[in-house]
Amino acid sequence: MQLSIRNISKTYPNGVRALNDVSLTIPPGMFGLLGPNGAGKSTLMRMIATLQDPDGGSIQLGELDVLRQKDEIRKTLGYLPQEFGVYPKVSAEELLDHFALLKGIAERRARREVVEALLRQTNLWEVRKQKLGGYSGGMKQRFGVAVALLGNPKLLIVDEPTAGLDPAERVRFLNLLSEIGENSVVLLSTHIVEDVSELCTRMAIIDRGEILLEAEPLRAMNDLRGRIWRRVMSKGELPALEPEHAVLSTKLLAGRTVARVHSDAAPGPGFEAAEPDLEDVYFSAMAGRIGRRREQPEPAVTP
Ligand code: ADP
Repeated sequence: MQLSIRNISKTYPNGVRALNDVSLTIPPGMFGLLGPNGAGKSTLMRMIATLQDPDGGSIQLGELDVLRQKDEIRKTLGYLPQEFGVYPKVSAEELLDHFALLKGIAERRARREVVEALLRQTNLWEVRKQKLGGYSGGMKQRFGVAVALLGNPKLLIVDEPTAGLDPAERVRFLNLLSEIGENSVVLLSTHIVEDVSELCTRMAIIDRGEILLEAEPLRAMNDLRGRIWRRVMSKGELPALEPEHAVLSTKLLAGRTVARVHSDAAPGPGFEAAEPDLEDVYFSAMAGRIGRRREQPEPAVTP
């Protein structure tokens, strides 16, 4: 099963053009939608989750038309929104049982089995009796996944799930997603480059409502090989560098500034060749140095 997004646009009533002719093909596995805040990620996620209509375009999940067959889509879809509330005074087990009932699992014994399996899968079994109000950020996110997985969705959408998690919780959460990605389409939206580099076999970079690059992370990094250079210097040297070079990013390292530069040829003294990482891919795409601003038409095929 594959998710096909074709020519989706959306302008909000206040005039903000949140999506501009977005097309994407999302195969089974983990797909990362990477972009800065305000890029249009949540808008696109809500559309795929049938919660908002685009101005134009189409979305297809396997045989289903997402924009027209909303009820069918909702049965096969799990959605973890960026923010969701839990009832703080009930336990994870009680609330999950309640949601399972709402999902239509009427028989008590069947429900108990589903709830137990999901609590075990999300590593919450030991804390199932605790009230949700006492859960940490990571536990809440995993509870959100348990809810989203009710009904065995073929498509799981997670919107910015790792923001605010501490490093250990984040790793645990990403491992959970990657297990789910073995059997379903998982669409992860994030502004954190590492989420994508650690997890996703495919990705797209979105900015200001447009897809800048659609790629496999490993291949995209490989394609940059030989074009990324780094220079360690004092902070005061940076302004002189910027007009002459395509500076992708700067970081502090032990009190020194490390600048990474995109260049087809060696940029001169003081620079050394660097192994490209996904952050280089991200900033190169954001700077318009790689990728596409708009989807290119297929080249004409002559028989
Ligand atoms: P992201 O999830 O990548 O941060 P969003 O989809 O939330 O991006 O937002 C994309 C753009 O649309 C932003 O400029 C945002 O301010 C605007 N936007 C989002 N929701 C609404 C809305 N309901 N009304 C008006 N503008 C909105």
